[in-house]
Amino acid sequence: MSKQLSLETELVHVSHKDGNNASVAPVYLSATFKPNSFDDMGEFDYTRSGNPTRATLQQHLSKVMKAKFVYAVNSGMAALDVIVRSLAPGDEVVAGDDLYGGTDRLLTYIKTVNGVKVGHYDTTNLELITSKITKTTKMVFLESPTNPLIKICDLKAIADYAHKQNPECVVVFDNTMMTPLLMSPLELGADIQYESATKYMNGHHDVMAGVLATNSEVLAKKLFFVINATGSGLAPFDSWLMIRGLKTMALRVERQQENAIKIANWLESQNVKVRYPGLKSHPHYELHNKQSRGPGAVLSFETGDVSLSKKIIEACELYSVTVSFGYVCSLISLPCLMSHASISAETRKERDFPEDLIRLCVGIENVDDLIDDLDSAFKKSGFK
Ligand SMILES: *Cc1c(COP(=O)(O)O)cnc(C)c1O
Repeated sequence: MSKQLSLETELVHVSHKDGNNASVAPVYLSATFKPNSFDDMGEFDYTRSGNPTRATLQQHLSKVMKAKFVYAVNSGMAALDVIVRSLAPGDEVVAGDDLYGGTDRLLTYIKTVNGVKVGHYDTTNLELITSKITKTTKMVFLESPTNPLIKICDLKAIADYAHKQNPECVVVFDNTMMTPLLMSPLELGADIQYESATKYMNGHHDVMAGVLATNSEVLAKKLFFVINATGSGLAPFDSWLMIRGLKTMALRVERQQENAIKIANWLESQNVKVRYPGLKSHPHYELHNKQSRGPGAVLSFETGDVSLSKKIIEACELYSVTVSFGYVCSLISLPCLMSHASISAETRKERDFPEDLIRLCVGIENVDDLIDDLDSAFKKSGFK
């Protein structure tokens, strides 16, 4: 077939080489592989450098992400680690001020230990962020929508500006919140796209994984060098589970998003202040629509009081009180005490991070059950 297949179709059709014509790609747990002969060493020798199951996953992801080079590693943070290892002391880096907590922690580490110059700025302010990107900027780190503040940045405008200033500048985009289903950062100008596959890509909270994608051969070589040198390539069994999880990604994300849209509208109908890019009340509703194919399934809301937020969370029965997102079950959390506790209270205050903010990561359950659960938690806690 010459027609380009849609992502939903690509996700379920995994091509692989197996001598027994297995329908499902087999898992090769072997750490070592024998050469065919000294003249023909074969494709694989040692799993740190390459493994057939990881290779199947990477080839599959390369079609799904429409990227020439894709690598699967041990976690989203391992993916970021692979990227930042190409930075040298004195290199200048521009980053968002509302990045994932772990990203913030690793960038702070390379700043204090490796002497990389890292500046954090509000990426929603295009004038500000472009004024900080100069001819000597080596890398730009962006995330959109951020979580849980749900801030949106204009990826194309920022990437175009950075490349005009310095064609060698590497624009890095964390696409964990959107997945390849809802956003294509490489098409919008990012040089490297990475995602925590622990979230939606795998979707079942039983694998930690990260994915890196690029269309640049030069960057791909650098990324692979670090992965091979440090041994951060994804383990064979986790690669196999990822292939399985990915098959239902489109179904899961579509249902999660449909539920999230209904919950966001219900919350607004209760006069609650909601942050969700699927609502017209979001200040960057149009920008988000322009650069993505949907608002996703993570939203947050304020109650005005931390102790009230705690009571609501404790009164919920269906939502599990858990960090992370992208799971098939719905999750609820208080980011300032959980996922974002690694950012100091002082920095959270500087960045206008409301301590009472509740984050919902919507799952695939029946949406009426999810709304009823919130409604009764609101009543039990005396919120509404
Ligand atoms: C979870 C997450 C990460 C880190 O991924 P891990 O797989 O937990 O290492 C990075 N970015 C975002 C946006 C995340 O949500």
